[in-house]
Amino acid sequence: MNVHEYQAKELFVKFGVPTSPGRVARTAEDAEAAARELNSDQVMVKAQIHAGGRGKGTFKSGFKGGVHMAKTPAEVRDFAAKMLGETLVTHQTGPDGKQVNQVLVAQAVDIAKEYYLAILMDRATGAPMVIASTEGGVNIEEVAEKHPDKIIRTPVHPLLGLQSHQARSIAAALGFRGGPFRQATDLLLALYRLFVGCDCSMVEINPLVATPDGRVLALDAKFNFDDNALFRHKDVVAMRDESEEDPREVEASKYGLNYIGLDGSIACLVNGAGLAMATMDIIQYAGGKPANFLDVGGGASKEQVSAAFKIILADPRVEGILVNIFGGIMDCNVIATGIVAAARETGLKIPLVVRLEGNNVEAGKKTLAESGLALTAADDLKDAARKVVAAVGKAA
Ligand code: ADP
Ligand code: MG
Repeated sequence: MNVHEYQAKELFVKFGVPTSPGRVARTAEDAEAAARELNSDQVMVKAQIHAGGRGKGTFKSGFKGGVHMAKTPAEVRDFAAKMLGETLVTHQTGPDGKQVNQVLVAQAVDIAKEYYLAILMDRATGAPMVIASTEGGVNIEEVAEKHPDKIIRTPVHPLLGLQSHQARSIAAALGFRGGPFRQATDLLLALYRLFVGCDCSMVEINPLVATPDGRVLALDAKFNFDDNALFRHKDVVAMRDESEEDPREVEASKYGLNYIGLDGSIACLVNGAGLAMATMDIIQYAGGKPANFLDVGGGASKEQVSAAFKIILADPRVEGILVNIFGGIMDCNVIATGIVAAARETGLKIPLVVRLEGNNVEAGKKTLAESGLALTAADDLKDAARKVVAAVGKAA
């Protein structure tokens, strides 16, 4: 799960990570009021979407930039009016862009230097990793590619946590001295407490800044939370903004389905994450493109299968469906019954290829055969993939 920058700032305040004061606004008038509250001669107006690159983004209206500095409350109102309700396209949103429904009005800070700072779960070491760089504010992927020596990586022992000597080393390597050195060290330790305390999989501050008067502040925030730990963070769950998410995934999450929307045309319904991955691979291998990842798991109910099938059928990208079930714990007949129920309710007009194997497979095949649904049976995975790709090709 992701949150907006203004929400991330609330967590900064809670955990003692210094940031510039500000608040969210949903109308241009309220943005103006927020600017008056700040009582500052320079105020930032920042589009709130779950994507980065806002500063360099362009609105579909033609208006350039999702991050602006204003000198008066009236100017803040004008910027907010140009952003609210408009669609912002950045290199992270894809060509469709994202609609801006709120703006952050924050105090503008004088910047002496911009840095990059992130903490994330590192797959290679299986532990948290602090990533820092003096080359902040810009595209960090580019820095990693062209100047890998400018990226400081510090693995953290998951049981010991970030040690103060590690925080001091990072602050020193970034070139901080004196007062700012102590502030950067404290900020690192506070950010690590936030990372662990909120079960984040990533926190990214780009830019972290030093001001001419010697303060160190976080000016941007991108957080990613581990969905498996959300049950113990009601305050974080309350920050969820479903309008920022793929509607297919929002629907799937209501039924506890492991679903990820993709942009191909062949939907798949599979039990087991590994088998689901293999199914997507083999669809590609047969010349097709998967429309989703979907693992219904070993203990799915008929209702869950039915809901999954409806999500697939409601997806305009989908031109064919591959059901690939190897029933170990899963009862094949539960899958078959769920599919038949959903297909009856919504009407199935696209090719459906089914490969069923394992636990109670005979009953499952019987349910499908007696349903009168026009489906193609497949013997094995390769056969199934070939058949669904061929059927979609023919339909097109
Ligand atoms: P994004 O990464 O989505 O483009 P940022 O929050 O990083 O958005 O903003 C873009 C740039 O705007 C930053 O790199 C920084 O230079 C400037 N900026 C952002 N917030 C402030 C602020 N409160 N005061 C001064 N400058 C800011
Ligand atoms: Mg940024």
